[in-house]
Amino acid sequence: MSKPSPEVYEQGKGMDAHNQAMREIRSRKEASYDPHEPTRVWLDEDNTPDGVKTSLTIILNTGGCRWARAGGCTMCGYVAESVDGGSVSHDALMDQIDVCLAHEADNADEPADLIKIYTSGSFLDEREVGAESRRAIADTFADRDRIVVESLPDFVDREKIGDFTQHGLDTDVAIGLETATDRVRHDCVNKYFDFADFEDACAEAAAADAEADGDVEAGIKAYLLMKPPFLTESEAAEDMISSVERCADVDGCHTVSMNPCNVQRYTMVDDLYFEDGYRPPWLWSVAHVLEETADADAIVVSDPVGHGSDRGPHNCGECDDRVQKAIKDFDLRQDPSVFEQVSCECELTWETVIERERSFNQPLTR
Ligand code: SF4
Ligand SMILES: [Zn+2]
Repeated sequence: MSKPSPEVYEQGKGMDAHNQAMREIRSRKEASYDPHEPTRVWLDEDNTPDGVKTSLTIILNTGGCRWARAGGCTMCGYVAESVDGGSVSHDALMDQIDVCLAHEADNADEPADLIKIYTSGSFLDEREVGAESRRAIADTFADRDRIVVESLPDFVDREKIGDFTQHGLDTDVAIGLETATDRVRHDCVNKYFDFADFEDACAEAAAADAEADGDVEAGIKAYLLMKPPFLTESEAAEDMISSVERCADVDGCHTVSMNPCNVQRYTMVDDLYFEDGYRPPWLWSVAHVLEETADADAIVVSDPVGHGSDRGPHNCGECDDRVQKAIKDFDLRQDPSVFEQVSCECELTWETVIERERSFNQPLTR
């Protein structure tokens, strides 16, 4: 396990205990990778402010998340020490992009309209992706309609977004906000920044939007985490409803992606799960939040990963696929009536959990 960097964010913020625990848990796993290969690449489709578009999603290897090296988020199984020295050269990053373009050429009839680039860190952090690489990647995808890049809020500024909008690319920055509630973000997720930092990043995106030519857009896509550890089912649902509403009210934030927590290996969530102290959220809770926030002034979507399994968001086992399908329908159509068409006997159990589960007796069901 690499040492935490000297500039770890936790100092003075009361996060040392969580980080110490997460460092110990993560150190059980060792991994390494080839810096010339992306972590993952796949084709999909997505709902954007301009409608549903084909998408190419790229997870770049950039030397990894420095926060994960310090300990990091309680649910994130990302393995921190994935590259020696913690950085990947410009040439290696461009090799990764070439691998992704070759994957697209082999598997799609035409180039995807939407490009999404994640790094398990921050694409806009110049210690991960330097300005030269950022601009070269913007050039490479200049013929597409829209690009999404992932970043922590600290690194978002209007000039960096301008590298993309100047090519006529609509540009979104995806921010792993997790929740609008600072206390939940700090104490349950172990993420160091505040909602105010997210608001500042949105203001930068709004400024980039105003500076961009004509109908070229820039904005923020907020990623929320439903049910981090230590919250009951009802607390988790309430936290998400208020978070979706608060994000949608921030100028510059046009999309909220609300994703249920799943149990990843080598995390604090995994340790709790093993000790019967954690259950991923019910899919009924996801549907409930989407229904309750259908009027919010933003696109609200959810992508329950690992749905129907014990380690992912799940209901009773009988209805999981049907509820998941309704959620995916909602993502594309934003119509809450899709949830009226699904029902199951287990809704009563879920309602009882919402009503009776307390943080000192959770979880009530498996
Ligand atoms: S969730 Fe993101 S910020 Fe947190 S440890 Fe994982 S990669 Fe780092
Ligand atoms: Zn059911």
